[in-house]
Amino acid sequence: MASSSCIITIDGPAGTGKSTVARLLADRLGMDCLDTGSLYRAVSVLALETGTDPEDGPALATLARDVDLRFDWTQDPPAMYIGDRDVSSRIRDLDVSSVVSPVARQPELRSVLNEVQRTVAKRRPRLVTEGRDQGSVVFPDADVRFFLDAEEEIRTQRRSLQMARRGDKVDDDAIRTDIRRRDEIDRSRATAPLVQPEGSILVDSTHLTLEEVVDCMADHVERIMHTTQGES
Ligand code: C5P
Repeated sequence: MASSSCIITIDGPAGTGKSTVARLLADRLGMDCLDTGSLYRAVSVLALETGTDPEDGPALATLARDVDLRFDWTQDPPAMYIGDRDVSSRIRDLDVSSVVSPVARQPELRSVLNEVQRTVAKRRPRLVTEGRDQGSVVFPDADVRFFLDAEEEIRTQRRSLQMARRGDKVDDDAIRTDIRRRDEIDRSRATAPLVQPEGSILVDSTHLTLEEVVDCMADHVERIMHTTQGES
């Protein structure tokens, strides 16, 4: 792609493989990749460590503002740091997953992290960014916006496989419950609920391999960028 700036958003529920798909798509298109869930997870780690109430929005916003939440872009995928501490592995633990959705529904925290995300996009303007609100709230004018979905059982199996590969103890029932709970909270919250953004492209990955999902998205990007460049 010739364009110097390009934002591609991927939103969707837990366990659809958004992070992996976003990374592969970004690699294929020579772009950077932002996993915005890592930011909410990093703040959840801080909340657990400091005993901060996951429903206390102003306190969470202060926690997020007082530290340096940053990515090490030399690693693939980029590592998540709180100051000098690499929390990339810690943020994936189930105790973090279990508090992250209450944490993420606090509007005061969301506005702090929205700014962090927009700053990343300014510094890395060719970006595939994934989360729950990227195409609906943070980057509504993105060049291409996707919504990635899959049936719940498939999402449970994929998350379970991902954890097993990391060498974690796997409990399918706990994973299913976690996914279901987070989706309910993410979809029903007042601020930036998980929705398919109007005008976005729905990709249902239930019966697709990872490679097929990435191929499908890359085809859409190619077509849209081609059309837009033709118009300008
Ligand atoms: O993507 P991941 O599952 O790591 O995200 C963890 C949680 O962070 C989600 O369940 C959601 O509550 C929250 N999140 C969010 N908005 C984003 C990204 C993640 O609310 N843009």
